[in-house]
Amino acid sequence: ALKAGIVGLPNVGKSTLFNAITQAGAESANYPFCTIDPNVGVVEVPDERLDKLTELVQPNKTVPTAFEFVDIAGLVRGASKGEGLGNKFLAHIREVDAIVHVVRCFVDENVTHVDGKVNPISDIQTINLELILADLESIEKRIERSRKNIKGGDKKYAQEVEVLERVKEALYQDQPARSVELSDDERLIVRDLHLLTLKPVLYAANVGEDEVASAEENPYVQQVREFAVAENAEVVPISAKVEAEIAELEGEDKAMFLEELGLQESGLNRLIKAAYKLLGLYTYFTAGVQEVRAWTIRKGTKAPGAAGVIHTDFERGFIRAEVVAYADLLAAGSMNGAKERGQLRLEGKEYLVQDGDVMHFRFNV
Ligand code: GDP
Repeated sequence: ALKAGIVGLPNVGKSTLFNAITQAGAESANYPFCTIDPNVGVVEVPDERLDKLTELVQPNKTVPTAFEFVDIAGLVRGASKGEGLGNKFLAHIREVDAIVHVVRCFVDENVTHVDGKVNPISDIQTINLELILADLESIEKRIERSRKNIKGGDKKYAQEVEVLERVKEALYQDQPARSVELSDDERLIVRDLHLLTLKPVLYAANVGEDEVASAEENPYVQQVREFAVAENAEVVPISAKVEAEIAELEGEDKAMFLEELGLQESGLNRLIKAAYKLLGLYTYFTAGVQEVRAWTIRKGTKAPGAAGVIHTDFERGFIRAEVVAYADLLAAGSMNGAKERGQLRLEGKEYLVQDGDVMHFRFNV
């Protein structure tokens, strides 16, 4: 399953947020492929299209798609030099597909700040520096090796060195690897190194519990936004403490509490949606009377691969897929309606699944 890692300095609200995530709790029976680990929380992805399909089909059961948040606590200044549990945490970050970086934007004298005062930009830079230093180490090693290969007469290494030097230069300027413009070919070369600063990042700006409705007016949030624009990163203001309270409520109580707070939806929902988007994923649907369900695939997945997300047998025995685009199905009002309009397509093994496709697989067992 895909994973987003939660990182940040100590005392910024990571555990509080992570607890809210596990409290909100996905129905784990639906997601047997997910990891059982106290540091991993499974979240369901809110999707309006899934709600609409449920109204349309009236199934026995509706199952959203899910992904995992991993709590990567313990990242401190000096991690890249192996301080604290440094390298171990960097190794955990290497395994995630996207990073949610929690930054402290709340003021509370009772909560110690590791540097003595609230300063989100300096906090971000502290963490980023550790990631940059770790990346520099990987990249320098690789450049050295590739240079030897050029001497051996292999030309492809010359291009590799050129690209890596460019990324290295950016890292020396304190810029993350993701800020470097790369062609598709170049990206492939760089991807191979599993750089930490190439991963997409979202800053979760943790504001005080009395600021949820006016978070954008918080000057620290504004600073984080400015910083993120320059870095090509996203920002989601959230109050971890409030989210922890919301997560304990259900149904009407929850709705009432949100209304009291002046919120349309929980910050956690906004965070989940933003993180899902950050992962760069597509959602396709299956819509039977038993179950309407959303499934996650990476962009560029072909029909058999998409079937394989449901079950490996579906992939192995794939024959073809019946496909209708979500918007077409909704406009037609039913599967039969879509069929009459000629919008139900038969697709084969080479079909590239699109975001929002509603699919039915035909397969041999
Ligand atoms: P971590 O070290 O990053 O995991 O931080 P914690 O989640 O343990 O939070 C550190 C302290 O900050 C705890 O005492 C939390 O209750 C407190 N805290 C977290 N979020 C907020 C917030 O929005 N407002 C206030 N006042 N305190 C918070």
